[in-house]
Amino acid sequence: MTKPPLKFETDVQYLKGVGPRLGAILAKRDIRTVEDLLNYYPRAYEDRRAARNIGTLQANDIVSVKVNIVKVASIPMGRSKRRIYDILVRDQSGQIHCKFFRVPYKGYFERFTAHQEVRLVGKVVDYRGRLEFHHPDLRDIEPEEELKDDLIPIYPEIESLSSVKIARLIHQVLEQLPAEAWGIEKFSVSLLTSRALVSRQQALLKLHHPPVSEAASYHTEKSTSHRRIIFEEFFWLELYLAARKSGLKKEKGLPIENSGKKTQQLLESLPFQITGAQKRALAEIKSDLAKPHPMHRLVQGDVGSGKTLVALASAVTVSESGCQTCLMVPTEILAEQHFKNAQRMFSPLGLKVAILTGKSKTSERNELLAALGEGRIDLLIGTHAVIEEEVQFKKLALVIIDEQHRFGVRQRGILKDKGLSPHFLVMTATPIPRTLAMTVYGDLDVSVIDEMPPGRSPIQTRVIYESKRPEALKFLADQVAKGRQAYFVYPLVEESEKIDLKNAIDEYEKLKSEFPHISLGLLHGRMKSAEKDSVMDDFRSGKIQVLVSTTVIEVGVDVPNANLMVVEHAERFGLSQLHQLRGRVGRGVQKSFCVLILGRAVSEEARARTAFMEQTSDGFKIAEFDLELRGPGEFLGTRQSGLPGFRMANLVRDVQILQEARQAAFEILQTDPQLTKAENKALREELLESHGSAALAGIA
Ligand code: ADP
Ligand code: MG
Repeated sequence: MTKPPLKFETDVQYLKGVGPRLGAILAKRDIRTVEDLLNYYPRAYEDRRAARNIGTLQANDIVSVKVNIVKVASIPMGRSKRRIYDILVRDQSGQIHCKFFRVPYKGYFERFTAHQEVRLVGKVVDYRGRLEFHHPDLRDIEPEEELKDDLIPIYPEIESLSSVKIARLIHQVLEQLPAEAWGIEKFSVSLLTSRALVSRQQALLKLHHPPVSEAASYHTEKSTSHRRIIFEEFFWLELYLAARKSGLKKEKGLPIENSGKKTQQLLESLPFQITGAQKRALAEIKSDLAKPHPMHRLVQGDVGSGKTLVALASAVTVSESGCQTCLMVPTEILAEQHFKNAQRMFSPLGLKVAILTGKSKTSERNELLAALGEGRIDLLIGTHAVIEEEVQFKKLALVIIDEQHRFGVRQRGILKDKGLSPHFLVMTATPIPRTLAMTVYGDLDVSVIDEMPPGRSPIQTRVIYESKRPEALKFLADQVAKGRQAYFVYPLVEESEKIDLKNAIDEYEKLKSEFPHISLGLLHGRMKSAEKDSVMDDFRSGKIQVLVSTTVIEVGVDVPNANLMVVEHAERFGLSQLHQLRGRVGRGVQKSFCVLILGRAVSEEARARTAFMEQTSDGFKIAEFDLELRGPGEFLGTRQSGLPGFRMANLVRDVQILQEARQAAFEILQTDPQLTKAENKALREELLESHGSAALAGIA
């Protein structure tokens, strides 16, 4: 009996050598069908080209070369009992060191003697400018061994399933899969040709069995096969976002149109002129608000660029049409600050502002909710508390989320469910690089505030070590003597047994005794709201000269007279966080300073990170660098759970392809808004399959 031929949908257990046990292991990586197996990509290639020799090695190559042992050395490490083993090997073209930081097994190094010929397999590393191998595989040469010119794919192991075994399974599939089983290409010919993409079939075939002549491009993951797969990963995401975006454009909203008299009045009441960038953002918002479908706009602007004003002016525009605005912020301190600003600006216009946080008293809260329901409040400012169920508006037309990066991506959906489809405005101080913003916020329109209010002098940043701390303190005292104010930030509130960190409370006491003539305040997350408010009020009014704080002041806080930010244990903070902290100063006309103090035993990476802060104050650059350092997952943190997992694409490395994929997806939807053309039918089906019919609402 002949077996039916393989298909993409065939269960992997149908393959020779795969039983229920192996099937279960494969399933752990979601490999259930033949297609899943083909989509399990090699993580690297072992270069077995016969021509490889020591002289041609480059960092990060994974190679297999035939070498002779020169000598085996064991080097003691410091006073500990540990040793490094160093095997020096050579061939006609040169020599290279193989380092071992642990002993693979007892007697391992005794196996090797000078002049012995071995096969060396491993990854070339660049260690302080010198190429070497770390923990390579040293194998005996098989007597009949003959080098085949080849690139061997290396797959990520799945538990006990080795790369070699996975390779064998994939090889089996490639051999047995009939041509017609490769299914249809989902990309149209015009997409393939216009974007110079190879077919999916060709990409998969070559990824699993790359041609030796293209070795370099497979090692660097820049081959045409890689390009195709990476493009495709981005493309599906962008197509989904494009479809969502056109769906959003079809929702029914509350068009806001009015003379803008009050907004004008507000702007005239300010002690300064709005910047061109603020004006542009406001004009874009105003035009969005007037449309019959809800606005979905992101305002990106570096710390201190004046986003609050844009938010408040938009709320005034909305109130002029008799509608309400809700402004959501991540911390109570920020809510309080925005509330005070808004009150000052709104009262002269006869508009009413209210604040709601988790700490609001029940009686106040009930009264507020009633007023909100009756439409007596024009702008509600608050923390998470504003998304609770009982909070009902009479006519909510605009929702603004400040410091959006502190909330999850999903958050923006929640407020929308409050009855109508309000206009939506999110503000972020760009800790998200533009490229990443395209994927995370890909369905939003973007206004960029790329101009700082005039008269700000750049912040001078210095990184110092603990030992220089007294000098920093003296500098602080000098600034205070000149009438300025300062922040002193600590990473943690309470002493942890494990980490020996200075404790904000202790330090506050210490600083107090050190500087008896300076008025100090203490602020941390465990304090009661009323206490926090009074400390912030005193700092704002200048009664407190130096504010010792945890990172509760990280976002949004605005006290223009403060011109010095000191961050203790700066190595514990991420770059974007440091940038945010530094953004608390440089808001007034005084020259501002930021001192980053490093603790002892700081890693190389932390040093590079903080040094970068000295070089630039450009939030975009800092965000890009941060993304490079930590990668998108770490960078966005768990809060941003909306990001898809890419198998091959890398948001940092493949930005160019991301942009192309985005362009292609948006172009296709523009020329064929409902994806009804024959050539786009497969795209429509794919969207439907992976995101359900909701994804198609916009293009239906
Ligand atoms: P962010 O964009 O970080 O939220 P803020 O809205 O807190 O910045 O603004 C920072 C400071 O700049 C505030 O003190 C604000 O009053 C002031 N400001 C805003 N716009 C202007 C402007 N056009 N000219 C001068 N100062 C401005
Ligand atoms: Mg702000």
